[in-house]
Amino acid sequence: MSSNEIEIEETPWATGAPRHSLTVSVLAAAAEHTDCSFSNLALAGRVNLEQLFGGTRYEPDTGADPLAIKRGRLFEEILKRDDYAELLNLLYEQDAVMSAFGADVRIARLRDIPAPAGRSGLEVRAEATRLELGKIARKAWDAPTLIDGAVIRARIGGGIAYFEADGLAAASNGALHIIEAKSFPLIDGRCDPVKLGAACAQAGLYAALVRAQLVEDHLPPETVSDTGFIVLPKNTRLGRAVLLRQNLGFHTRRAERLLSLAHLDEAVVKRIEGRSFPVAGVGATERIDTLSHLMDQAGTHYCPECLEHCAAAKLCRERAYNAGRLAILGDRAAREVSGIETFERVLELTAGADPLDHERESARELVRARRLYRRVLKGAGS
Ligand code: SF4
Repeated sequence: MSSNEIEIEETPWATGAPRHSLTVSVLAAAAEHTDCSFSNLALAGRVNLEQLFGGTRYEPDTGADPLAIKRGRLFEEILKRDDYAELLNLLYEQDAVMSAFGADVRIARLRDIPAPAGRSGLEVRAEATRLELGKIARKAWDAPTLIDGAVIRARIGGGIAYFEADGLAAASNGALHIIEAKSFPLIDGRCDPVKLGAACAQAGLYAALVRAQLVEDHLPPETVSDTGFIVLPKNTRLGRAVLLRQNLGFHTRRAERLLSLAHLDEAVVKRIEGRSFPVAGVGATERIDTLSHLMDQAGTHYCPECLEHCAAAKLCRERAYNAGRLAILGDRAAREVSGIETFERVLELTAGADPLDHERESARELVRARRLYRRVLKGAGS
């Protein structure tokens, strides 16, 4: 999969900061924490957080594995061989809904359209994608079964970005199903659930991008089905593929929320006025100080899942730990004492401090737990 971005308007808080391309995986990761203002600011300014944290003790562990990239490319090639023969066979093996693909397969080969390199080329393919999507939504006789080389244009953080999709499948009954190809294997019917979740998040993002395009063109967004397909190798060898049918509804809605952040919360922008992400080349200590101050101003929303998706996670985890925030225990634990934010406050309320209105219910449970604990200790001692 590839993706490109161009022409994002300048965001004052990101001037001089290292930047990255807005890839689908960057957007999919950001969709995991749309409630974090700092992360939204970084996304809107295309700030490369990996680079900013590089060389500091908060450097993220993640990085693209070149072997995995090679494997991914090889698997894509296998799928595309003989006009997507393997993929189309898998689609036909699906249930009655999918057999609506019909006998006449039409592949829209948008990569074959002569177009200049760079932005203009992407614009040409984005325009061609719009036309093909329109045919699907209108159930035209010449609607494609599969769009190869689709490019979707989207407004992100005040600028235009172009995303290139693996492939978009369309049933002849007018429903469009997103297909995402990944090279991690399915063995004995099982695969890595974290990787599968990430693949669904990316597919959901494509679904949201296509729906936004349809809305812009006054076409029904429901054309994009919540049912998507993740294509995986059937075992560690790449020769055979398998299609996993997935409900993308949750991921699509979350991605739609992310795309709606194109207009950043004005209050956040006001709060950080005069502050900005560190510029490239600044020393490690100064970089971390600047990022910390910006986090204070913008606001963050740390949870343990951040460690899987955000390059700032190690710093945020340390900040949450130092501030004694319950968030480091994760959502489930924090829900047990809802309305209370810090360990310190838990101890105060357990000891009988007066709760605020929003803390009352949790405080009652904490006091009850303390009594129970004491009774157990007393029983053990007698
Ligand atoms: S790690 Fe920090 S900056 Fe990143 S999403 Fe989580 S709270 Fe926000």
